[in-house]
Amino acid sequence: MNISILGSTGSIGTQALAVADDLKGIKDITVKALSGNRNVALLEAQARKYTPDIVAAFDEKCASDLKVRLADTSCRVLSGEDGLIAVAAHPDSEMVLSAIVGFSGLIPTMHAIDEKKDIALANKETLVTAGSLFMDKIAENGVKLLPVDSEHCAIFQCLEGNRGNKIRKILLTASGGPFFGKTYDGLKNVTKEMALRHPTWSMGAKITIDSATLMNKGLEIIEAKWLFGVDIDNIEVVVQRESIIHSMVEYEDLSVIAQMSLPSMKHPIQYAFTYPNRLPSADPRLSLKDIGTLTFSEPDEDTFKCLRLAKEAGRQGGIMPTVLNAANEEAVEQFLDGKITFTQIGDLVEKALSDYKNITNPTIDEILRVNQEVRELFK
Ligand code: NAD
Ligand code: MG
Repeated sequence: MNISILGSTGSIGTQALAVADDLKGIKDITVKALSGNRNVALLEAQARKYTPDIVAAFDEKCASDLKVRLADTSCRVLSGEDGLIAVAAHPDSEMVLSAIVGFSGLIPTMHAIDEKKDIALANKETLVTAGSLFMDKIAENGVKLLPVDSEHCAIFQCLEGNRGNKIRKILLTASGGPFFGKTYDGLKNVTKEMALRHPTWSMGAKITIDSATLMNKGLEIIEAKWLFGVDIDNIEVVVQRESIIHSMVEYEDLSVIAQMSLPSMKHPIQYAFTYPNRLPSADPRLSLKDIGTLTFSEPDEDTFKCLRLAKEAGRQGGIMPTVLNAANEEAVEQFLDGKITFTQIGDLVEKALSDYKNITNPTIDEILRVNQEVRELFK
């Protein structure tokens, strides 16, 4: 299978290339195009190893540097949004892995769908901000949409063999993050270093902070609503501290189907690459005897208000999830830059939501405009 990877230098992108290595001789994956942003050395190394036709660095200066470094190869080096779009639209790619972090992934991923590529979707922010338009485009173009988020991949698997049966509830599991059990006051003095230390997953900085505020779970509720057509109020978050059960689906007959594995993003990536087949994996095996106990509890939405805010924005729909997402991306960046405290992330998102009037059924231009406007408030 030929693929393009948007965000090949990130946590998901590098693990996807490792999965391609693992699958060699089992299912060969040829990488036709890659994109990153500023990690020129890694982009160069990936270009030399996987010999794609196109490599794009979003940052113009980094792209110029990369061009010099790859002058002895036949690889085309591109930059900016046009470069990302060329990666997404490579004529020989059958699937595009969308693994850019944040809103910047939206336009290239939409282009990939227009070019009739199957989509392996890690970039949840695109569904949060433009879920309705995104799902319409998937349906219009008749392409496959395979979730590369551990919970959504789990739900997708729990639905296999049960399509057409009514879902009673989605039980979306959460690790609870590094601050599980803390009170709101206890969160006031947490540092960036503490927030970046996730108990069960190793991921990019933005999603790691989202996991600490529980905004990640809020974004995942909205993601699940679009992927599986379930109302926000039928999606229940269950804290599963060990991150072994990746999510569950409850049907009308009250049967609950769960998907389990050790926490590794290589699992959902491989499933997206090999679907509908289940092929051998290089990951370690799950031993429930070694795990011993699985624990479950309710999330604390008073302490972790981002989860509550995301649910509210999801229920309101329209432009509100765009406002939520843009404010969160900016607030997280400010927290990572040491400009605001941890609890201010939720405060700033709450303020942005209260400042906005909803727009129902926003167009792509309205989404782009509001996304930009909200970000300006943070400058
Ligand atoms: P990351 O920060 O490790 O990597 C992000 C990638 O996006 C890099 O390749 C970077 O170069 C690229 N990028 C950043 N800004 C860009 C821009 N403006 N234009 C073009 N490219 C840009 O992030 P990650 O942890 O790999 O997460 C990627 C996406 O996958 C996110 O949407 C995240 O929510 C989702 N996701 C990640 C995990 C995980 O385990 N890491 C799990 C589930 C979902
Ligand atoms: Mg997840």
